[in-house]
Amino acid sequence: MITESLHGPRRVRPATTDDASFWWDGLERRELRIQRCGACARLRHPFQVRCPGCGDLGWDWLVASGSGSLHSFVVYHEPILSETLYPYTVGLVDLAEGTRVIAPMLPNDGSGLEVGAPVRLVWYDDHDGPVWPVFVPTGGAR
Ligand SMILES: [Zn+2]
Repeated sequence: MITESLHGPRRVRPATTDDASFWWDGLERRELRIQRCGACARLRHPFQVRCPGCGDLGWDWLVASGSGSLHSFVVYHEPILSETLYPYTVGLVDLAEGTRVIAPMLPNDGSGLEVGAPVRLVWYDDHDGPVWPVFVPTGGAR
């Protein structure tokens, strides 16, 4: 359970296509869904119509475990936008399944985060928008 408020822009579900709705539907079920090629099983995120590996148009998805490691991160201090508290941190996470996702990180100020360190998925619900995937350092439950 997250006890720290998630900073950053107010999150709203954008208009989506039928092809991308699996991602947003997954968030509502607290599932981190990753698109998988139907021909070669290559994972890809964000959604793409055609597999960049083999060019196939068929696909399904898997639910990621939520385990991974921190590939990189950035702590935002600017630009100052309304409805945004600073600093907030965004991470590039290497999922255990073998692909990357970009997601908010906690703690907001990035303190204690280390590139290469294990992270895990938690779900953030601000009750005013979609449930959102957030990553925290493993062992650093917040
Ligand atoms: Zn493929």
